[in-house]
Amino acid sequence: MLNDLIIIGAGPAGSSAAIYAASRGISVRLLEQQAVGGLIGQVSTVTHYAAIAAHETGAGFARRLQEQLAAAKVEVCVEAVHQVALTGPVKTVRTAANTYQARAVILANGSTPNRLDIPGEAELDGHGMNLNAARDGRAYAGHNLYVVGGADGAIKEALYLAQYAHKLVVVHFEDQLGAIPQFVTPLLQLSNLELRLHTRLSALEGKQAISRLQLTDVHSGESHWYEDPGAGVFVYAGSTPNTTLYPELKLEKGYIPVNEKMETSLPGVYAAGDIRVKQVRQIATAVADGAVAGINAAAYVKSVTRTCV
Ligand SMILES: Cc1cc2nc3c(=O)[nH]c(=O)nc-3n(C[C@H](O)[C@H](O)[C@H](O)COP(=O)(O)OP(=O)(O)OC[C@H]3O[C@@H](n4cnc5c(N)ncnc54)[C@H](O)[C@@H]3O)c2cc1C
Repeated sequence: MLNDLIIIGAGPAGSSAAIYAASRGISVRLLEQQAVGGLIGQVSTVTHYAAIAAHETGAGFARRLQEQLAAAKVEVCVEAVHQVALTGPVKTVRTAANTYQARAVILANGSTPNRLDIPGEAELDGHGMNLNAARDGRAYAGHNLYVVGGADGAIKEALYLAQYAHKLVVVHFEDQLGAIPQFVTPLLQLSNLELRLHTRLSALEGKQAISRLQLTDVHSGESHWYEDPGAGVFVYAGSTPNTTLYPELKLEKGYIPVNEKMETSLPGVYAAGDIRVKQVRQIATAVADGAVAGINAAAYVKSVTRTCV
């Protein structure tokens, strides 16, 4: 069956695009590899987006997105997209189980958090390493918790984790934290904080749980091992745009360039949210992109449908 519009990714950008496009009376299929909500669905607390509830959680935000998609009668398919063909009037989108076709496609599949790529990481993944604050914080209560990163997302999650940590160790490779005062000021007042600036987490050891960690000073190059049985590590070290699926598009530093209608260089192909070239990556800009992409993709579908008839 030929869909009017396929959207790849049900984070804030793809969900917003789906809600706007469906309201224009076209058929919309939303493909999501994991769960509605995207990155923000996995964070402990959501801040700054206008009109969110006080103490908004990522899970709560994702749940309301899902309810809104259901009310808009958007079909959400939980399938990972493996391959696309975007050139030409009919676009093809393949998952493991299905091949879909559409007149237009919106690429809203965001980015993937970076791994540290250090010795011991793969073996301890999910067993002390690369934990999720909202999901795992409570289970690691009473242990030393390490947050790797110094930007807003990292420090916001560190503030959440402080309530569970025996000692909260923030490890950041720069000489200063890069987060906003709203987060840094309360962080520096924590009684259980150990701030390790110009430092990298460079290796881990343990079997099924962390037994010790190695920290390296980026200035001196000196490394030291620290015994810390049962420690938990939460990594917020940037992310990489999920654009390897799109060899037909010319990228800028891995991101998709678009014009103000969210159009890519290919007719009928739009991009929205963190995946596109932009300055500010937040929910507010993701949903704004989604609105613009959804409205313009629906108008495009109607224009090509009229031409075909
Ligand atoms: C720790 C942290 C805290 C943050 N806190 C805030 C905050 O408080 N306030 C704020 O405004 N912003 C915050 N942000 C930023 C915000 O999360 C992002 O800007 C926003 O989620 C971007 O939305 P998106 O829809 O573009 O991408 P994403 O949220 O990344 O969604 C993309 C979706 O696409 C799916 N996907 C990927 N590949 C495929 C595929 N091949 N097939 C199918 N589906 C696929 C993913 O599973 C995902 O659901 C935070 C970010 C981080 C990392």
